[in-house]
Amino acid sequence: MSYSLMIHGGAGAIRAPERYAPCLRRIIETGAGLLAGGASALDAVTRCVALLEDDPLFNAGCGAVLNADGEACCDASVMDGRTLAAGAVAGVKGVRNPVRLARLVMETTPHVFMIGAGAERLGRAHGLAFEPDSYFATPERCEQLARARARRDMTLDHASPTDGKLGTVGAVARDACGHLAAATSTGGLVNQMSGRVGDSPVIGAGVFADNESCAISCTGVGEQFLRTCLARTAAFYVESQRMTAQQAAAAAINYLTRKVQGSGGLIIVDREGRWGAAHSTPGLLMASAEDGDIHVGGA
Ligand code: ASP
Repeated sequence: MSYSLMIHGGAGAIRAPERYAPCLRRIIETGAGLLAGGASALDAVTRCVALLEDDPLFNAGCGAVLNADGEACCDASVMDGRTLAAGAVAGVKGVRNPVRLARLVMETTPHVFMIGAGAERLGRAHGLAFEPDSYFATPERCEQLARARARRDMTLDHASPTDGKLGTVGAVARDACGHLAAATSTGGLVNQMSGRVGDSPVIGAGVFADNESCAISCTGVGEQFLRTCLARTAAFYVESQRMTAQQAAAAAINYLTRKVQGSGGLIIVDREGRWGAAHSTPGLLMASAEDGDIHVGGA
């Protein structure tokens, strides 16, 4: 049986996509190598999202945008399509790889969703890497926050052409055994209220995986994805309406725009290993791999 893997680096007005291509290629190749070597979909999506979190180009981990208090507060989630096991964290600070903390919630606690200091303590207890404030509050992120404050605005990382950078990250995969997994990670919206949580760590909104249907990771204005339960809605299209991954991606974005004039995108790998992507924004940064066949670029 073959494998399929997709990663995304956010939806929006993509300026200079060639700037992101080398990083996306390196990460999709790493993930594809893992899956070709027999790794699980869960390990592949965790690794790909952790690598995206380590790249300051993206709004997750080290590149997380700053909230209204000037802090990088991260949200992340992971889901295993074999069992519907899931783990998520919200509002965590200083954690180098929030997706690894989400995985710890899934694998070492009886819980699905943990927030703030308690989640951070779990990470420290398991030896996860933590970083100082200076790792996240880069001069570029501080300038971006100052611009948003001056406009009295709260935006997607990639909403403003002057801000240029792209957003939230995610990965979806089907491994050689036919198992599915998904993961999503974000710093949220630029200048968001302290304490605000978007869709990215919410199972069924910003992430979902079920071996009976598909694996999904979303990016966009979180409130709109929360209100439409968008990831679960897309899975419903695959499961109950027998749509392919691409048909379901398009139908989900159609629902998002029709119901709440939503702005964003999503990636899907279905149980047959077919992939799909759709967005209501001008672009979506993504890369895919199917049995060594690598594609990098915008959808
Ligand atoms: N979905 C994220 C949030 O609302 C933002 C993004 O996708 O860029 O927190």
